[in-house]
Amino acid sequence: MEKKPGNVILIGAGIMSATLGMLLKELDPGISISIFERLDLAASESSDAWNNAGTGHSAFCEMNYTPEKEDGSIAISKAVKVAESFEISRQFWTYLIDRKILPHPEDFIRGIPHMCFVSGEENVNYLRKRYAAMVPNALFEGMQFSEDKDQIMSWIPLMMEGRSSHEAVAATKMDAGTDVNFGTLTRSLFNQLQQMPGVTMHFHHEVKTMKRISSGKWKLTVKDLSDNKKRTVETDFIFIGAGGGSLPLLLKSGIPEGKSFGGFPVSGQWLRCTNKDLIARHHAKVYGKASVGTPPMSVPHLDTRVINGEQALLFGPYAGFSTRFLKNGSLWDLFGSLRWSNLKPMIMAGLANIPLTRYLVSQVTQSDTERLDALKAFLPSAKAEDWELEIAGQRVQVIKKDEEHGGILEFGTEVVSAADGSLAALLGASPGASTAVSIMLNVLEVCFASQLKQDHWQDKLKIMIPTYGLDLAANPDLCRETRSRTAKALLLEE
Ligand SMILES: Cc1cc2nc3c(=O)[nH]c(=O)nc-3n(C[C@H](O)[C@H](O)[C@H](O)COP(=O)(O)OP(=O)(O)OC[C@H]3O[C@@H](n4cnc5c(N)ncnc54)[C@H](O)[C@@H]3O)c2cc1C
Repeated sequence: MEKKPGNVILIGAGIMSATLGMLLKELDPGISISIFERLDLAASESSDAWNNAGTGHSAFCEMNYTPEKEDGSIAISKAVKVAESFEISRQFWTYLIDRKILPHPEDFIRGIPHMCFVSGEENVNYLRKRYAAMVPNALFEGMQFSEDKDQIMSWIPLMMEGRSSHEAVAATKMDAGTDVNFGTLTRSLFNQLQQMPGVTMHFHHEVKTMKRISSGKWKLTVKDLSDNKKRTVETDFIFIGAGGGSLPLLLKSGIPEGKSFGGFPVSGQWLRCTNKDLIARHHAKVYGKASVGTPPMSVPHLDTRVINGEQALLFGPYAGFSTRFLKNGSLWDLFGSLRWSNLKPMIMAGLANIPLTRYLVSQVTQSDTERLDALKAFLPSAKAEDWELEIAGQRVQVIKKDEEHGGILEFGTEVVSAADGSLAALLGASPGASTAVSIMLNVLEVCFASQLKQDHWQDKLKIMIPTYGLDLAANPDLCRETRSRTAKALLLEE
């Protein structure tokens, strides 16, 4: 019989650790959990509201999830997966609200239409085909498509004003879209976790090393950053949810499964609108199409946000390059992650991604005027004085070994776990926080496999996430019923 982890260490106080901690505590109230966070506040890195775009990724507007195939048809399988994952998150949050574990839903989630906007005949044709491929699926029911300029003007007036009348344009609109403040959500989850018996949170504590000891447990060295004293702690199970800091810790764990991974940091910037009239006149998350040869994280979007009850507007992201793995990290992070075991994958992935490097260099060297030009493609009448530059969160894209190419760069997320399930690490950043619940369920399936088979875990999971294990795309009625139930609970209905 598999040994039951009696105590768990979560490294990092972002949305991933918060979600895993809450899932574990709900499934097994007796489990003890210690959380170590190097900063003095939860969700201060990628999960903070201004460090990410707050899009509840449901694939309604992200055209990078629906590529055009060689035969001209549109592949929607990735979009279906992302949309289903977000429905899982919505169900878990609904469960936590029903039990008063999470506060008022408007504190962290709002209904905001998700839109695609394209210009030029080729892109208009693509969007028309995308809409036709998606709308029959219950997950994308309700999506509207228009090539009519008056109709689009009524949806997004700011984006249509000042645009040439000769330009072919098209848009889709999905009213079921959301804006999520993952910072507030994360802090609310930790506030509740901290009050549960057996949970301890240690801010200002940085995990430095970890090694397996003869008892089969893990021994971690943790530094208290307020007095620089180090101490050791032991545990049965470690989750490395350290965001950009996960890769160095995974490498330090020495598990063979993690040895060949590398990371490529990409920083981000937004333009944040300071003009209250403009902010009030836009009410949608509008995603464009990434230019050919640019990475998925470069997809431009003009985004309505609601942060601490206030409506805001941001445009971006503008990518950049920094050798830091965390916004609050060190310039040595990238060099410190180099090992003999990951050098070849890193070099091969680098050589295969020269266009990405070129793109990042062009982004880093961008002038204010060039940034404004990119915004003008979205908002033709944009003026520089209405916008200010903000630094977004840091992403570390996953580089992994590949038999054919030596090494490949990936833009998704990857859970890497030890063969005995005693350690799991989350690498990568996309689709990210929106899919935290599905990703953490995946950690449970791999690392808590025997407990998950037991009736009481299965019964509890069905209460928390009634569609767990079911295929929503193949069950249109269940999909509609689930979305409508969670929309009511999360106050997303108009
Ligand atoms: C520019 C940008 C835009 C994004 N937009 C979206 C979006 O619109 N929608 C979406 O769903 N997702 C989005 N994401 C992705 C999303 O933000 C992340 O996937 C998610 O926040 C990651 O959460 P996390 O808990 O893994 O990491 P984080 O929130 O980064 O938390 C990791 C924590 O670990 C701590 N830590 C690091 N090292 C150590 C150590 N050694 N010891 C102790 N603590 C440590 C850090 O201080 C940090 O608090 C975006 C990300 C970026 C960068």
